[in-house]
Amino acid sequence: MTPSALRPTWCEIDLGAVSHNLRQLRSLVGTDVAIYVCLKGDASGCGAVEIARRAETEGADGFAFGNVDSALACRAAGITAPILLYPTCLPESASALERAGLMPTLSTLEDVALWDKAVHGELPVFLKLDGGGFRAGAFPHEAAALAQAIASSRHLRLAGVYGHPMTSYGFEDEPYTVAQLEGIRAALAAIEATGIPVPLRMTSSSAIVLGHPEADLNAVDPGRLVLGMPFEAIAPRQSEWRPALVGLKSRLVMVRSLAEPGNVQPAPFLSLRPGMRLGLIPLGWSDGFPRKMPEQAFALLRGRRVPLLGPTHSELLRVDLTDVPEAEVGDEVVLLGRSGAAEISLEALADQWRVSTHDLYPAIGKSLPRRYIG
Ligand SMILES: *Cc1c(COP(=O)(O)O)cnc(C)c1O
Repeated sequence: MTPSALRPTWCEIDLGAVSHNLRQLRSLVGTDVAIYVCLKGDASGCGAVEIARRAETEGADGFAFGNVDSALACRAAGITAPILLYPTCLPESASALERAGLMPTLSTLEDVALWDKAVHGELPVFLKLDGGGFRAGAFPHEAAALAQAIASSRHLRLAGVYGHPMTSYGFEDEPYTVAQLEGIRAALAAIEATGIPVPLRMTSSSAIVLGHPEADLNAVDPGRLVLGMPFEAIAPRQSEWRPALVGLKSRLVMVRSLAEPGNVQPAPFLSLRPGMRLGLIPLGWSDGFPRKMPEQAFALLRGRRVPLLGPTHSELLRVDLTDVPEAEVGDEVVLLGRSGAAEISLEALADQWRVSTHDLYPAIGKSLPRRYIG
């Protein structure tokens, strides 16, 4: 048994959903468009290595990462597809990137000079374009000069150009999205007018794939969509997506009756009733559960609803077992997923916690042991 298999709390990730979603995506973008699956944030808590393995089997053409450690873990696990790193690395890591076959992102003339100096052999790089986010990326009017600098460098080779229009962050501004896409397209045209070949041209994260089919160009790099997080889609891109995050489960590590507490006074902030039965599960706010117990929070046990009782603790939660007197140590307690005929869906859990389903993925997936199904 691995150490995490001894821990009676886990989340469940459905790799069948990842397969399904990638097939849907392929049928939408066609076979002429490369799919670079974005696995940043450890695949939003689903585990980059396992998601990459499945996606590679399903014909993903490449991967995109934020942090280099996650990309290196995938290489160590045998992932061979091309890997793009978003701008999260320093030129001093050039040799390590060269060895692992990772392609960094450059945005400025200074980047080009520093990386070219740091590389010994040949390093394929991506040029990023900024459509208005003012993060990394060349502004459209700088793009052609940067591409020329890469093309005439000693060690760098232009593998592709990508942009990442800002689409979330609490503003949904369709004209602004369109303007960003136009800026990126104009910059690409300016680069191509110089005669420098741009093998990969990519500007579609999940929201753009579903809202702007005209922006597919010849590659797309959605991430969260592949994991089944919900996005709005225009009619030709409507499709069924299945969530990869399907379970949050634990087991009772203690059961006790409050019928005879002796002369111990319960802490005043506990809402206990005489005669109550209490259980404990080893899950708490260190594992992504909300720090403040949500009102009406509940879980499922033996197919029945059991209330969770605040306050929350770092690694423990109380379960009210009064209505399930047969509950015993070791019983499974389901916060997300099925228990008998009952089920708590991802949306229902998000409602309980008063967050979006997008927030649940990293909250749950990043700290808990994962069990893969499908
Ligand atoms: C995060 C990111 C993506 C993927 O975004 P999703 O919304 O998860 O599809 C694509 N491209 C870039 C540059 C990103 O940073």
